[in-house]
Formats: sequence, C-alpha cells, structure tokens
Amino acid sequence: MATAKTSQSSREHDVVVVGAGIAGLMASSHLSKAGYRVSVLEKARGVGGRMATRRIGEAVCDHGAQYFSVKGKSFGRVVSEAQDSLAVMPWCDLFPHSKTAEGPIVELLDEMGHARWRGTHGMTSLPKYLAKQLPEPVQTEVRVRSLGVQDNAVHLSCENNQTVVARAAVLTAPVPQAVEIFQAGGLWPPAVDSEVWGVLSSVEYSPCFSLMLWLAKPSLLPDPGGLEVSSGPVAWIADNYKKGISPAPSLTVQATAEFSREHFDTEPSQVEDKLIEAVNSWIDGKALDEVQATSLQRWKYAFPVSPLKAPMIAVQNKPPVVCCGDAFGGGRVESAASSGLAAARWVQRLLG
Ligand SMILES: Cc1cc2nc3c(=O)[nH]c(=O)nc-3n(C[C@H](O)[C@H](O)[C@H](O)COP(=O)(O)OP(=O)(O)OC[C@H]3O[C@@H](n4cnc5c(N)ncnc54)[C@H](O)[C@@H]3O)c2cc1C
Repeated sequence: MATAKTSQSSREHDVVVVGAGIAGLMASSHLSKAGYRVSVLEKARGVGGRMATRRIGEAVCDHGAQYFSVKGKSFGRVVSEAQDSLAVMPWCDLFPHSKTAEGPIVELLDEMGHARWRGTHGMTSLPKYLAKQLPEPVQTEVRVRSLGVQDNAVHLSCENNQTVVARAAVLTAPVPQAVEIFQAGGLWPPAVDSEVWGVLSSVEYSPCFSLMLWLAKPSLLPDPGGLEVSSGPVAWIADNYKKGISPAPSLTVQATAEFSREHFDTEPSQVEDKLIEAVNSWIDGKALDEVQATSLQRWKYAFPVSPLKAPMIAVQNKPPVVCCGDAFGGGRVESAASSGLAAARWVQRLLG
C-alpha cells in the first residue's frame, strides 16, 4: 500500500486532503489526475476509514461498510477500473431479511435486487487500490489538530508537530471532527458565514457496535452470507467466510443505532455477550465452544442521522476550504465517493 510516515513540514502542495476514507481518496485521485500536488493526511495506521477490514486470529472481517452500490457514472468508472485490477467484485444482488436476529428468514423478490459490491480481500481493497494510484503516498498516523488561514493559504498543524501549508483544503473527517479542527485554527463566525457554520454544527451521527467473531465451524447463515434484521439489538449479520473474504469461518454482527447508543459506555464484554446471544441461532453449536476469538469495534460516528442534500459545503472560498464525505448526500459509500469528487471539482474550479 502506498502510505508513508513523516514528520517533515511541506510547503509545496496545492491541496491538502484530511482523511483517507473513500471521500478523501476520490478527491485526491481526481485532483492528482488534474495535475495538482496533493498531500493526504490520515490519522489511522491504514487507509479506508469506515471501509474497514481486520484480521482476528485466522479470520478476516469487514467491520465497517459491508458492501457498496454503484448508481452514478463517475463512481461506476472508478469501480469498473478497480474491477479490472481485481480490487473489487460483485457480491450479490439481494440479501434475505428477517424480523428478528434469530429468524425466520424472508426471501425478498428478485425485482428488488441490484448489484452489491465488495472488496476482493475485504472492503479496504478499494481504498487501498485508490491510494496506490496516487503519485504521493498517503501520510498515515498523522492526526490534523487545526486548520487556519494566513496570507491566502491554509495552514494545518498536526499532532506530530508537522505543519502543512497549501493553496486549498478538503476536509473529509466526520463533520463534528472537522468542526473541531476549524475551531482549533480560529475558523468560526465571523471568519465563516454563520449560516454555513450553523449547518455544519448541526450534523449528527449515530454510533454503531460491530462485533467480529472467529468461529470454529462455518455459521448457519444462508447464502450469500448477509442478513438484514429489522428489530431487536441487531441490524445486520454477515458471514465473511461465505462472502469470500475470510479463510476461516467468521461473523460480523452490527448492532442497531438504538442499542449502540444505549450501551455506548457499557463494559465491552457485556455488549459482546448480548450480541452473541442475539445471533446464537446462526452459530453451529454452543457459542462457548465455537467462538475462537472476538473483537468489538465501537464506531462513534457511524452513520449521519440526517445527511445533508448538498454534495459538499464550502467553508470559505479564499483560500478554498471545503467539507465533504458521507454526511453530504446519503450516508453510504457511494455518496461519500460522490461527495469527495464534488469537492475536488469545486476546488479545481476555484484554483483554476
Ligand atoms: C458499521 C458500519 C457499516 C456500514 N455499512 C455500510 C454498507 O454496508 N454500505 C455502505 O454503502 N455504507 C456503509 N456504511 C457507511 C460507509 O462506511 C461510509 O458512508 C463511508 O465509508 C464514509 O466515507 P468517508 O470518506 O466519508 O468517511 P470515513 O471513511 O470516516 O473517512 C474519514 C477519514 O478521516 C480520518 N480522519 C478523521 N479525523 C482526522 C484527523 N483529525 N486527521 C487526519 N485524519 C482524520 C479518519 O481516520 C478516516 O479515515 C457503514 C458504516 C459503518 C460504520
């Protein structure tokens, strides 16, 4: 993967992109291809953000986004190229549905189907593929602390004491985190239009627990290995083995927003017990014997509660600073990708 760690200051960039999730990578890819020098800063150890894949023992689990859809042409072209490079592949057209996590399963009508895509080795395959195409490696483990404006340039300061100066900035961190970065850099009303600030400050996300289980035997979940659930503590169950990304049997169990909110500060082992109990009927044998290892991911900013209709929001024009990501358009992988692209095109127009 094209990533690098650095603590040097850099002054030669046209655009700095904060976050290497799908929105940030789509924006960086568009701007790099348009000839701009782009610096991508990512606080995590790897790229992908909420398109996340993890290994537990011998199992591989997607623990953020589970699949993505492709409706727009621009994202479609990117996905098609990624498919040619074997980074992504179709998973299925439809998932069965169940009222409760225990079942029974209700098969949906074929007419309701459309292609659901997955990464070849897990959902991070697409972000990794995009990062690899960039002329400059993504700087990982670099957390941006503040963004301010000085002499018609954006100045970002990072927790590793690195300072990045650029002609424009694209912020893709979940909006409350982007707002904190602006505040720390002195960007809030009156520097920023108070209406824009009001909109950004109102964006909220729901949390989500994602429990990963490495199992001794394959689960009893039917093909294609994904089940949507409409009531109780669980919203989604996936079999990563049937999905084709895990060499060993494993499940990913996603809790509902209500359950995740209610238990956000509960002892993790208690949350695990409740979720394992809810999906017990899909484990072939006693959970105590079958579960080899567990890992619980607690997403604080999982899904925007009411995504904004605008594809991006310009925080200011001179120098250009823009917020984008899945809060703009729809709260899904494709909306985040489209939002990143919209932000990149806006920056391109302003920089000329
Ligand atoms: C559990 C779960 C299940 C989901 N299931 C699906 C699904 O099945 N299908 C679907 O389409 N969507 C799904 N989604 C939503 C989808 O994952 C997101 O909409 C999409 O990945 C968001 O992309 P993004 O680039 O906007 O944000 P992110 O992926 O969150 O990227 C933002 C990046 O910014 C980085 N960052 C934040 N702050 C800083 C900082 N200060 N300095 C540097 N970097 C920073 C973060 O580390 C992160 O990498 C799911 C999400 C979750 C959490």
